[in-house]
Amino acid sequence: MTYEDAPNAGAPGPAGRFPAERTAVVTGAASARGIGRALADRLAGAGWAVAVLDLDAAACADVAARLTERHGAPALGVAADVSDPASVDTAILQVEARLPAVVALANVAGISSPTPFLEVTPTEWDRVFAVNMRGTYLVTQRVLRGMVDRRLGRIVSVSSISAQRGGGTYSKVAYSASKAAVIGFTRALAREVGEYGVTVNCVAPGPVDTDIMGGPLTEERKEQLAADVLVGRVGSVHEVAALMAFLLGEDAGYVTAATYDINGGLQVS
Ligand code: NAD
Repeated sequence: MTYEDAPNAGAPGPAGRFPAERTAVVTGAASARGIGRALADRLAGAGWAVAVLDLDAAACADVAARLTERHGAPALGVAADVSDPASVDTAILQVEARLPAVVALANVAGISSPTPFLEVTPTEWDRVFAVNMRGTYLVTQRVLRGMVDRRLGRIVSVSSISAQRGGGTYSKVAYSASKAAVIGFTRALAREVGEYGVTVNCVAPGPVDTDIMGGPLTEERKEQLAADVLVGRVGSVHEVAALMAFLLGEDAGYVTAATYDINGGLQVS
């Protein structure tokens, strides 16, 4: 018997198939050259309705309009500060009213912190944690109740090689600590919600060519950042988006509590 003939070939996992109409919420998705936007585009092309959440309302609306234009996908851009519970609640209420049920959440919103430890103020420390960790907690908790009720959900957050290696790219201690927190969050939450058909994972990218590292990367900076990378270059937003889209997809139902290295081999160099 070939694999194709097997009784359960192509069958859905125990958590069941995804509904034809389903929404992915992507935070931090308005940045023109960012990971979130690349992911939103990929998901819209793969049959998802997409909710674009970011700080600037006009930028969110613009990205959503382009998703619909390019892919014919239902899309909604909503302003949200992920660190603020009221803002998150207002945004998700709009998403729930105007798009199909939320099956996937990508926590992509994040800020850097290149300040050396002895110079970090409590204000900067708190802001970095407020966006990178508290934001991940707030948006996840807000969409999770519906996922648990429907017994179906995929959550993927963005950690960083900086958490595992202790910086070494651009950001320093506050950022590394906040991104390490995302890994603990992922594992602990996966333990709580697995029985409800909800998976929780994170990705830990190495240096990627976006604007988060103090503006666009010059060729010289790209070379510096790639010095220890086994494949000899920085990553692209499309590479990170492809991995995240897989983890958010129907086929990834048996992957949970995982942290995926996507860094060109930097984790061993
Ligand atoms: P980016 O700056 O292009 O994107 C970050 C986005 O988050 C922006 O659109 C920004 O407006 C949004 N954001 C910031 N604060 C917010 C808030 N309070 N509420 C809502 N949105 C907010 O950078 P990027 O590289 O695309 O970053 C995406 C994620 O990837 C971040 O979490 C970052 O830490 C992580 N990351 C990036 C790299 C890299 O090398 N670029 C490496 C590892 C991890």
